[in-house]
Amino acid sequence: MKQDLYYTKVQQRMKKGVLVLDGFLGNDKRNLIDIINEDNETVKRLGLTHIIIAEKLDEFREVGLKALEESVIYKDHFEIKAEIFRGKLPCPFGEKGIYQKSEITVINKKINEQIKYSDLSIHLIKEHGFYQGIGSPYRLDPKKVVRVLEIS
Ligand SMILES: [Zn+2]
Repeated sequence: MKQDLYYTKVQQRMKKGVLVLDGFLGNDKRNLIDIINEDNETVKRLGLTHIIIAEKLDEFREVGLKALEESVIYKDHFEIKAEIFRGKLPCPFGEKGIYQKSEITVINKKINEQIKYSDLSIHLIKEHGFYQGIGSPYRLDPKKVVRVLEIS
């Protein structure tokens, strides 16, 4: 889909080395608007919303942060590790606000799958419906997030 200048500018800021070393797009060559639309369709088909998914990510983040730097077991079969790093990041969509650099890892031991995300990832999903491009280290495939966190 053709995208307007706003999305083109945002997509520029998401490239490797502009705001973050790895960028947000991985090796995804699609237009930002198409990345967002496709994940939006997936989330709709799952009968969920970006808010529901972001709130679940936030719940696991909160639990992980209480045991900072140490792994914590949650609800019997989730292992969570949350790390906070020095520094803050702006959102590539360009509105006000900065986000703590962090990395939250959640392992679902029942299915042996894990996801990794940051404070900014949660914001990107909640406010922009953006799960990052394919190949980005912090890409959160909606289906995988739903599977690992058992969102229903
Ligand atoms: Zn934003």
